[in-house]
Amino acid sequence: MNDLNVINNCHNPGHISPYPVSLTKGSGIYVEDSNQKRYLDFTSGIAVLNFGHCHPRLVQALTDQAHKIAIVSRLFHNEPLTELLAKICQMTQMDQAIPMNSGAEANETAIKVIRKWAYQIKNIPLGHAEIITCQQSFHGRTITTSSMPNANAHTNPFGPMTTGFKPIPFNNIGALQRAITANTAAFIVEPIQGEAGVIAPDKHYLQACAKLCHDNNVKLIFDEIQTGIGRCGSVVAAEHAGITPDGITLGKALGGGLLPISMFLAKKELTQVLQPGDHGSTFGGNPLAAAVALEALNTLQDESLCQNAKTMGEYFMQQLQQLKLPTVTQVRGKGLLIGIQLESESEKMAKKLIAAGLLCVNTKNNTIRFLPPLIVTKDQIDEAIAIIHHVFNS
Ligand SMILES: *Cc1c(COP(=O)(O)O)cnc(C)c1O
Repeated sequence: MNDLNVINNCHNPGHISPYPVSLTKGSGIYVEDSNQKRYLDFTSGIAVLNFGHCHPRLVQALTDQAHKIAIVSRLFHNEPLTELLAKICQMTQMDQAIPMNSGAEANETAIKVIRKWAYQIKNIPLGHAEIITCQQSFHGRTITTSSMPNANAHTNPFGPMTTGFKPIPFNNIGALQRAITANTAAFIVEPIQGEAGVIAPDKHYLQACAKLCHDNNVKLIFDEIQTGIGRCGSVVAAEHAGITPDGITLGKALGGGLLPISMFLAKKELTQVLQPGDHGSTFGGNPLAAAVALEALNTLQDESLCQNAKTMGEYFMQQLQQLKLPTVTQVRGKGLLIGIQLESESEKMAKKLIAAGLLCVNTKNNTIRFLPPLIVTKDQIDEAIAIIHHVFNS
């Protein structure tokens, strides 16, 4: 399978266009391809590998649990899940959590709970609940989650889309105020827009959103699938913004970079509406994924990775700014979610960086995104900076 033409052309439809290398090994922040070429991985599998590749402690937790019991279904309790739910709720100041598998599913779960709350508690007429979302946001690839930023069936080739969403401009408190009606159930927002190109809102935007939602009995939900689990320098970005939303979705790095697990966490006021049969997931909350997620959260704390994300993120941003890279108009981000804005041709530059040994993600709006694992050291950032300097100046 070393022939990349075969890998690329045979059975993959056109929905992906991978860079033409095949990665075979990973350890910490390094990966190796099938030609034994080594790279610094500053993609983290797109915000999944916060603990680096194959963290020994997490691999241990995975294999230990795999030898004990991996699947029980939700027909029965399982200890790793009980412990995980207690720990994650405590760490995020939420009351209850519903485990799922992918980020999109966690958001779908949030939507179901919000809508039921809207009808049963807020007394919105059945079928009329509205959820405000943001344009350019990213919440997943299912029909419903891809309807959230763009519910317009006339422009979306996957329509008919799911209705009930009202996308507004991000970072615009007036737009939120104008969009709220008596039928508004919730506002779902990424505290920092990741896929849109690492767009952080103004300092007091999220706090203003929280106040406006609170005053109008509108639930505020943060999609922290990308920003959570230490990525932005705190367990969740909400913590940094100084607010506690009514609900949070998590995914990606929650599985320790080893397997998929996601969650919708919320205050009891929301989750109280659920009854047996309302929701579920065959694999959601399985003991194998729960054991790894629990160990991931313990590792996040034991290795002070939130603090490391904060200090290394500041260092990385400062170094990037000092480089004064040609064609780069802005360096922005929070913690280790960092974007550099180019005038043009970001995809070409991203490919050059990868060829030079630094994995990075080309994102919307000519932005190159860097998401190193949170275990990254100063020396490794210096190594990346040297590559970036070289590539932009050659
Ligand atoms: C990646 C991502 C999702 C979707 O997660 P999947 O596991 O791919 O379904 C949702 N929201 C945000 C903010 C993301 O970054």
